[in-house]
Amino acid sequence: MDKADIANDYIEWRLEQAMKARQQCAPSSLSSRAVCKQCDEPIPAARREALPGVQFCVECQTAMEGR
Ligand SMILES: [Zn+2]
Repeated sequence: MDKADIANDYIEWRLEQAMKARQQCAPSSLSSRAVCKQCDEPIPAARREALPGVQFCVECQTAMEGR
């Protein structure tokens, strides 16, 4: 590994940290919602973690996707 590789790793690490920090302070419109946009039911934390930026509960999402 030469100096360039180390620098690249460092830059990637910095980017990753910056992305994580940004996700944590992102406005609610960009991050996952605590409640469904459609019916105001709480969205489980597990669902929000599995689907970053999720806006709807399972029921509403299924209703919208399933035809
Ligand atoms: Zn809903």
